[in-house]
Amino acid sequence: MVKNPIEAEIGIIGGSGLYDLSMLEDPSEFRLSTPFGNPSDLVVVGGLNGRRVAFLARHGRQHQHSPSAIPSAANIYAMKYLGVTELLSVSAVGSLRDRLRPGELVVPDQLVDLTRNRRPSTFFDRGLVAHLPFADPYCGHLRRVLLDAVKTVPGSTCHDSGTYVCIEGPHFSTRAESELYRSWGMDIIGMTAAPEAKLAREAGMCLATIALVTDYDCWRQNEKPVTAEMVASVMSKNVAAAKQAIVNFTLTAPHKRDCECQEALAHAIMSDASSISEADRQRLDLVAGQYLR
Ligand SMILES: [Zn+2]
Repeated sequence: MVKNPIEAEIGIIGGSGLYDLSMLEDPSEFRLSTPFGNPSDLVVVGGLNGRRVAFLARHGRQHQHSPSAIPSAANIYAMKYLGVTELLSVSAVGSLRDRLRPGELVVPDQLVDLTRNRRPSTFFDRGLVAHLPFADPYCGHLRRVLLDAVKTVPGSTCHDSGTYVCIEGPHFSTRAESELYRSWGMDIIGMTAAPEAKLAREAGMCLATIALVTDYDCWRQNEKPVTAEMVASVMSKNVAAAKQAIVNFTLTAPHKRDCECQEALAHAIMSDASSISEADRQRLDLVAGQYLR
């Protein structure tokens, strides 16, 4: 891919139930290919409150990609290529706490990755070694902007923190697993956040997540364990709230970033730049090129 003029500044990755952003003005569709494969689907870029917004359906618009098969590296690369600096991801999650009820929203502040290494979770798996800080996987500044945007959605309840445990899936948890995650202090459970957040950090993007609670997983006594049907039935109300939050977010999202996300890679590269092959330089130029010259 060659360098592209900036097409978008805000990126939205939609999860289960959020397959389009119909409110985008003058939408254009981009079929992108990247050195890390093809994104989940076409990327739609359009205007919203005077901002340029890129939207991508994480599972594809027909929900054709299983969590383990989502091409997260290609998705994040495509957003970077389009110029995105502020990324919102929307995810359906199960609740591991009584207080986080189906139909409510959570903006998580922590993440535990229990995926089993079958998913590429770094741009730097070969040719260059980098160790990035990931203590706080979400951008604190963007989380605050998002929280303000979500809290002004009429009729919605939003929780301002929570730990998201990301499992491999595609099966839901056993009761023993669900109780184990609760005993560890996890708050919500999903299957998609972990590789995405790591790759966004590597790409220098600010990231915040709207987690839509659809069920109580399977830990609760006297409650039916989660099913896909159950998730879908709560989803429509949740998705409407998420869309309104995105509209609100574009009204207040900062034009200039005042955080460290964009420099996350600055002191992370361990490899001697002179040892990196021309092929790897080209492959990694969009993400790391400024640090390899
Ligand atoms: Zn940031």
